[in-house]
Amino acid sequence: MARSFKRGGLLVETYRELTPAAPWELLPLPSRAILSASQFPGQSTQWLVGVGDQLEEEQLIAKGQPLGLHSPIPGTVEAIQELTLPDGTKTSALTVVLGGEFRKTGHPRSPRDWAKESPEVLKTRLFQLGVSLCDKGDGSVTAPLKALVINAVQPEPYMTLGLRIIEDKQTEWSEAVKILQKIFQPQDTWLALDHDKPQESPQLPSDTSIHVKVLASRYPQAQRNLLLSALGLEKIANDEILMVDPETLLAVYQAVVWDKAYVDKPVVVSGNAAVHPGVYRVKIGTPLKDLLSYTGGLADDTLVLQGGPFRGTEVTDLSQPVLKSTSAIVLMSRKKAHQAHQRECTHCGSCAEVCPVGIRPLHLWQALEAQDLEGVKSEGLDRCVSCGLCSFICPSRIPLFEYFSRAQGLSSFQGVRGE
Ligand code: SF4
Ligand code: SF4
Repeated sequence: MARSFKRGGLLVETYRELTPAAPWELLPLPSRAILSASQFPGQSTQWLVGVGDQLEEEQLIAKGQPLGLHSPIPGTVEAIQELTLPDGTKTSALTVVLGGEFRKTGHPRSPRDWAKESPEVLKTRLFQLGVSLCDKGDGSVTAPLKALVINAVQPEPYMTLGLRIIEDKQTEWSEAVKILQKIFQPQDTWLALDHDKPQESPQLPSDTSIHVKVLASRYPQAQRNLLLSALGLEKIANDEILMVDPETLLAVYQAVVWDKAYVDKPVVVSGNAAVHPGVYRVKIGTPLKDLLSYTGGLADDTLVLQGGPFRGTEVTDLSQPVLKSTSAIVLMSRKKAHQAHQRECTHCGSCAEVCPVGIRPLHLWQALEAQDLEGVKSEGLDRCVSCGLCSFICPSRIPLFEYFSRAQGLSSFQGVRGE
């Protein structure tokens, strides 16, 4: 087994055993669903309905370019108001109060014979049913592709959803791969996984149209550029490669085969403070407090992270909803999370040691603090892949990665990003 990058990185516990193969639990319906207009970072939608409107299950309630958003439950629109997401993004949110008739749940659906449909019809259906194929959901890749890459590499400790889907839902994701192959006609299809114990790698269907690559576990090799390098695809232009995660494959399967809008999703609940870790099938818009109370509740000193320990965002308001981009809620004991206040840099060098792209995070941070644009450029802000390892490893708790991510989004630094 190889790993996908030569320098830096971290080998820490994956905590995969916390979410072993087990039937996924279906969370009860929320009495109120809170639908954020922004379901993915940088993406937003416009409401098509207003306060007091009656909604049907899976009704299109907001339009985006090109993605729509659908109501996960039947009910009445109670409010549309501002919502601040855990990462600080301000957006609009619509609250639906459960009520009325279920016209879809509990009624039989017939699988669609999608093989007879054209690639364009299939692609349009994905967008109409709210399935994002790209990070930004912008549909910018076009057929024919050089490569379709299924990225099932674990992005952070505890974040096991990709592996769980690959192991538990083979029929679904295999069919979704065929659908994407029909739409995008890739020359090659890759499935990338990582495992610290090769003998425990999942049994995969013998589909000769997929090249499987199993990497040795090391973070942050789920990162797009590092993974493309491991697959030998780094020279291919971005718009000739589609990289999707197994979660997206499930949504593709549901939309194309069962005509189902993207209104529910699997979420992993894990972490050293999780009472019942596992995979839960949850309606989009379900408040996190509903999910966490179903999965065993929280102790007083529990840190709730949306995402993993490297890049996850702390959630302090548990009325925050599950988004399409929510794949893991990690619960950590604050004591074990070693939370501490920021201190002076001790010049230990650990941040530079772990950086997978050769940045000296301390120097970059100092250049940013000094507003030294030349220094920011020469220290390589544009090369930062936002993996979060430097902040995670820093004994002085300096939020390096957070600085870099913010700076990459600031117009004052656009000129140094090579964009
Ligand atoms: S967040 Fe950026 S600077 Fe920090 S380790 Fe990752 S790539 Fe390097
Ligand atoms: S890891 Fe933290 S303390 Fe160590 S050199 Fe980097 S910034 Fe300084």
